[in-house]
This record gives sequence, C-alpha cells and structure tokens, in this order.
Amino acid sequence: MKSAPLAVKRSDKAVLQAEDLDMLIQNLRKRGHQVIGPTRREGAIVYEELASAQNLPAGWTDEQDGGTYRLKRRTDGALFGYAVGPHSWKEFVHPPAQRLYRARRNGKQVEFLPETPPAAKCAFLGVRACELNAIAIQDRVFLGGPVVDPGYQSRRQQLFLIAVNCTVAGGTCFCASMNTGPKAASGYDVALTEVMESGRHYFMTEAGTDRGAEVLSQLPLQRATSRQEQIAADMVSQTARRMARQMDTTGIEELFYRNYEHPRWDDVAKRCLTCANCTLVCPTCFCTTVEDTADLTGQHAERWRKWDSCFTLDFSYIAGGSVRSSSRARYRQWLTHKLATWMDQFGTSGCVGCGRCITWCPAAIDLTEEVRALREGGPARGAAPTGKETKP
Ligand code: SF4
Ligand code: SF4
Repeated sequence: MKSAPLAVKRSDKAVLQAEDLDMLIQNLRKRGHQVIGPTRREGAIVYEELASAQNLPAGWTDEQDGGTYRLKRRTDGALFGYAVGPHSWKEFVHPPAQRLYRARRNGKQVEFLPETPPAAKCAFLGVRACELNAIAIQDRVFLGGPVVDPGYQSRRQQLFLIAVNCTVAGGTCFCASMNTGPKAASGYDVALTEVMESGRHYFMTEAGTDRGAEVLSQLPLQRATSRQEQIAADMVSQTARRMARQMDTTGIEELFYRNYEHPRWDDVAKRCLTCANCTLVCPTCFCTTVEDTADLTGQHAERWRKWDSCFTLDFSYIAGGSVRSSSRARYRQWLTHKLATWMDQFGTSGCVGCGRCITWCPAAIDLTEEVRALREGGPARGAAPTGKETKP
C-alpha cells in the first residue's frame, strides 16, 4: 500500500522506495522539465534525456584507472552504483557549439540577427557532489564577472538539480581531499542517497530548496528512521575513506609559482600527446573559440562559439605564432591555471577532484602524481615573474 504524501520542508529527510523513483522523473516532466540523467551507451555511462527510470543503468558499475574505463555488472540492481563517466553536465549549460548570431545582406546593408538564448528547462538527475561544485565554479565564470553570458544564464536559471551522494568511490576520484565530496553539501534542490540493505532498496531524500521540498511533497515518502539515516550517512562516509587518490593542496599556488622551470614539466611533456581530452572531459574547463562561416552566395554568414582547449596550438595563436608552441608549455599552462592562477581569477581551485582527466588521458597522466612530483622534486626551479602569466 502506498504512503500518503508527507509535507516536506527544507532539510527534512524521508524515504522514497526505489520502485517509486520514476514518479520523481514523471513529476518533473509534467512540470515541463527535460530530465537529463545517466544511461548506458557505447560501453560508458553518459548523460542523456531520460523518458523514465527504466533508462537508468540498473545493475552496472565502472572500473576506472589512469587511461582505463570499463563497465561491468554489479551483483545487485543499484541505479547509481558507479562514479562519473566521460560526460559532464557542462554540455547542457555551456554547449559544445552555440550560434551567436546570423548576418544577412540586405541590399547595401548587413542585417545582424542575434540568437535568442534557448529556453530549454532541464532537470539534472544524478549530479554528484564534485559536479555540484563544478557547476558552482562555472556559475562564477559565466555569471560572476562584469559580463554575464546570456545563454548560460537562461539555461542555468531554469535548472532543477537532483544530487546523488556517492556510495561508490571511482578508481580515479579524489574529491574527499578537495573538500568537494562525496556528500553533496549545497547547491541542489533535492539530494538522494541510494541504500540497499537487507533486501530493501530505497533512497534517503533531502530537500535543499523550497521548490525541492514542493516536488518531494508530491511523492509517496515515508518518514526516515534514525537507523535509516545512519545507514545512508555511513555509506557516504565509507566512500570518502575508500578513495584511493588524493591531492595535497597545502600552499599549492606557491608550489606552482615557485616551480615554473621545474624539470618535471619536461618529463610530462614526453608523455603528453596534447590531445586535449583532459580539458574536454573536465567539468570546469570553459575555454572557447569563435568561428565565422559564410555561404557561397555571400548573402548569409554565421558566428559560432565552440569549445576549445589550451592544448591546441591555435588557442594561443597571436600575430603569426603560438605563444605556447611546446607541449611542455601547454601542459604547464593547463595545470598551473587549474590549480593555482584559477584561485586568483575566480577565488577557488579549478579542480573538483572528479578524476575524469586521469581516466580519459590516453597517456594515463595523473595530475595528483604530477603535483606530488613537484612537491617531492627538490628545491624550487624558477619562479614565474608574477605568477599571473599563465592565465588564458
Ligand atoms: S594530459 Fe593526457 S589528456 Fe591531456 S592533453 Fe596530454 S595526453 Fe591528452
Ligand atoms: S582537472 Fe581533472 S580531476 Fe580536476 S575537475 Fe578537471 S577533470 Fe576533474
């Protein structure tokens, strides 16, 4: 027999049976949200539109290490029993390609038609704690400065965020050492913790906003017992303890500014293929380029903004040459920006410890090892003149 709806307030904890998770998805769809969440495709767990809870990767987990990712079967039917995959949520709020305007010739005049920001109203289901932190970082980049990105703003304002606390530590995760997970601390409308114990399968739910509480109030929830709350909390804290990687961030800005000429940059340059995978999978990297196209009649032209990477030669091409022509310079730029100059620029680290750049690097380069090597590599080798030169 289904329970009567509970009146839920912000921070209340309640239990939703796993078989009723679909009601959350359908509720959001009825409210006009396109629900995006994890699903299994081409041997990976990716983020796509979900029609129902049937699309979730029930009973699958992932094995990740440097340069390695594979899915395997779990022995249970967990719906969120894996870590993050190659996709991140940024592709839905900061799309890989976005038309900025069209232009058309009108006699001797040229008419510019700016793009109206798309009005897609999305709900993200299954946002991990590190990813909530990545969204908060992108908010600072796109909304926190003197120039606001209108497309990002429009998509972000309509976003409904359902976090899932991690109960599995991915092989390359290190969020616990970055203070960004595995428990979602803020920035969500609803947070879920998936619990499987003694033959029971349910979600511990918590509302983070009033609208989250309103959505939860329409689901068949049961009051959480203190035992159930404790089980859910223990599962998340065990995940933190099981994380195999970590990064020591003590004095990390100075570490980079002191070691601008460290020989480790030559060592990593021998391994790095400058393929840009790490920047494309990273949930915080935001760099773009602008491309203009015109048709053969000369009557129409368009300007597009597309994801770019500091690992490409074109990215730093100025007045006849690339500023960063070597792979040494490009890797140093990326890591120094991510972990040091990002703090000067935006007030936080540019890394949330999701581990994607380690998993998806074809050369298995691991930024936690690179930082350790800089720390353990003896005296400082060449300070950057001001420490600010490596900003994009
Ligand atoms: S660090 Fe790895 S993923 Fe990044 S550009 Fe180099 S080879 Fe590619
Ligand atoms: S730098 Fe690597 S570990 Fe850090 S947020 Fe980006 S992809 Fe994740």
